[in-house]
Amino acid sequence: MKKLLLFTSMDNTSITTQIRKIIFENFNDVDLRFNNDQIFEILKQSKSIDELSTIHHMEIHFKELCDAELLRNIAQNFTTQWFKLFELIEKIQCKSCKNESYLTISEEKICQNQSCGAAL
Ligand SMILES: [Zn+2]
Repeated sequence: MKKLLLFTSMDNTSITTQIRKIIFENFNDVDLRFNNDQIFEILKQSKSIDELSTIHHMEIHFKELCDAELLRNIAQNFTTQWFKLFELIEKIQCKSCKNESYLTISEEKICQNQSCGAAL
């Protein structure tokens, strides 16, 4: 698993983890199409990203989720990218740090909290 150092949101949870949570809560259906703009709006509403962030800042996070084979990029229209899930996401609470991780059934069960990394 490659580790990327990304800028983090205000509560110090990585944006990629926030996106996983948003997908789990809103779009956890393999037949559903959803796009980066929808997720970006939810991130802004939840104040998970600073106000100066743009959709372009999110690109690296969506790419990371595509590389992890969590998301499949199915279409693109200008800056709007449409996605589908490969598999359902499940929420697992870490016994050691109590944070929640959002992983697909195929992913390695490792706590997504970067300062923890315990096996789930
Ligand atoms: Zn943990």
